[in-house]
Amino acid sequence: MSNRLKRKGNTELREFIRKLALLNAIRHDDKAQTGPVIGKLLGEKPELRTRVKEAACLVNEVVQEVNSLSLSERKRIVEEKWPEALEKEKVKEEKRLPPLPNGDKYAQIVTRFSPNPDCVLHLGSARAIILCYEYARMYKGKFILRFEDTDPKLKKPVLEFYDRIREDLAWLGCKPDKEYIQSDRIPIYYEYAEKLLKDGNAYVCTCQQEQFREKVLASKPCECRGSPPQEHLTRWQRMLEGGYKEGEAVVRVKTDLNHPNPAVRDWPALRIIDSEKYPHPRVAGKYNVWPLYNFACGVDDHLIGVTHIIRGKEHLTNMVRQEYMYRYLGWQYPEAIHYGRLKITGAALSKSKIVQGIREGLYEDWDDPRLATFAALRRRGIMPEAIKKLIIDVGPKTSDVVLSWENLYAYNRKILDPEADRYFFVHNPTQLTVENIPKTFAAKLRLHPDCPERGSRDYTIEPKGDDGSAALWISRNDMKTLKAAKVIRLMGLFNIKIDKANVYSAEASFISEPYEEARKADAPLIHWIPVGADMPCQVVTPDATIAEGIAESACKGLKPNDIIQFERFGFVRVDEVNVKLIAYYAHR
Ligand SMILES: [Zn+2]
Repeated sequence: MSNRLKRKGNTELREFIRKLALLNAIRHDDKAQTGPVIGKLLGEKPELRTRVKEAACLVNEVVQEVNSLSLSERKRIVEEKWPEALEKEKVKEEKRLPPLPNGDKYAQIVTRFSPNPDCVLHLGSARAIILCYEYARMYKGKFILRFEDTDPKLKKPVLEFYDRIREDLAWLGCKPDKEYIQSDRIPIYYEYAEKLLKDGNAYVCTCQQEQFREKVLASKPCECRGSPPQEHLTRWQRMLEGGYKEGEAVVRVKTDLNHPNPAVRDWPALRIIDSEKYPHPRVAGKYNVWPLYNFACGVDDHLIGVTHIIRGKEHLTNMVRQEYMYRYLGWQYPEAIHYGRLKITGAALSKSKIVQGIREGLYEDWDDPRLATFAALRRRGIMPEAIKKLIIDVGPKTSDVVLSWENLYAYNRKILDPEADRYFFVHNPTQLTVENIPKTFAAKLRLHPDCPERGSRDYTIEPKGDDGSAALWISRNDMKTLKAAKVIRLMGLFNIKIDKANVYSAEASFISEPYEEARKADAPLIHWIPVGADMPCQVVTPDATIAEGIAESACKGLKPNDIIQFERFGFVRVDEVNVKLIAYYAHR
């Protein structure tokens, strides 16, 4: 680095960079990134532009220093030195959703989330649920849950999932104001089908599917289309009375046969499903004629008073289809927002794959940690608020968004870090014997580094025998570090040096007590558990493998659903506390 920058002082400049780096780290809840810090620095101090190289060098240094601090240490420094900057960050953080189109035109905003109860909910539904719910709240409107369960054949609803979906919504903090179930509303759909048939806006098509397809692709009407409404009403009665078998008759809504998208042309509205072969779990064999998605959904959105449909852009064609029906019935189509796809890399978001995996026994249950179901996320200690914030920050934009698990974890970490108590978990334990311990040590390990008032976990290390030794559990994963370092700091205890180490055990000697000495020697910090003050512990990881180890005995006081941080390991949710502690891993 040039002497100029160094000489100038640049304690002041250094401090300024430190602030930028800390804020950068806090904003992303992760390590500070050199690039953006340099960018910001040059933006605020343009005079440095002629000396970019030197500035970058200094930034690099400071960023490294900042990144060696813990998350809470970084926050603490900013809180002490630049509280106003933190406030500014907070304001930026509280991102709001953009206003709804024509949001003020309606007396009451009504949104709906309409799942098919053929599976539990997963992260793929989060966007629809949270946007609909949040918009309803934002406008003091209503959020409706509508079960779309009108396909007992191919998307067969399952009773269990009605309740599981209700539970998932409650957990997410998105409780609906009202609930509808489509299988309760079949007579309503019949009524509107009949009206469309009577007015000549729909017809009962009895063509074979292939024949119909050929005609419609050529923009030609099938033979049924031109018959008078009376004929279609007769056919309709026959449908209801069981006079047709599956596939023999379909109610179609008339559209423009020249519509550029063939999928829009004369779309099917109701069809026959053999109720004996495919009984519905709620209404059994009561109905043979079932509405298809666009018809049932279209009728309901109007009758229920939905003002804003918020859904994925894959539904755009459905809107085009439904608009024909709305015109025939003299209804006004709700405002529609079609957001882009939200992909989470590495998450299996396909419902059919989840269901298949469960059926084949690949996954143990709906909350298997490999799944992105809400049940699985809940079990792992992912907080609903983290999902909510992530979705609100992404907003309803139409472009596709690709996120990673890391993005979600960053939101979750921000929530857990100030809350979670700290404990030690020794993964792959190996025994360390420390000799020459001069006296009895009482280690007071804070439950939370920032909150002494929360108390501590207390352990006494009492040297035994002629050599004044004590036995501790440490992780075999730390072995490499141990062998390389001259001095090692046992967190919250004292400094040691390793005399001998192999895979199964290690021997060390006591050096000194003060933390300062360890810091000067740049000693690695490792965690430990006294032999005898331990309990067996299993951590179920996101790939469903198990990390075996030992937890400190203070963990005996934990309860299921507690979320804690195993220091130097990660955040976990306590699943079971017995003789053994079983925890589910959330993230680092
Ligand atoms: Zn036909």
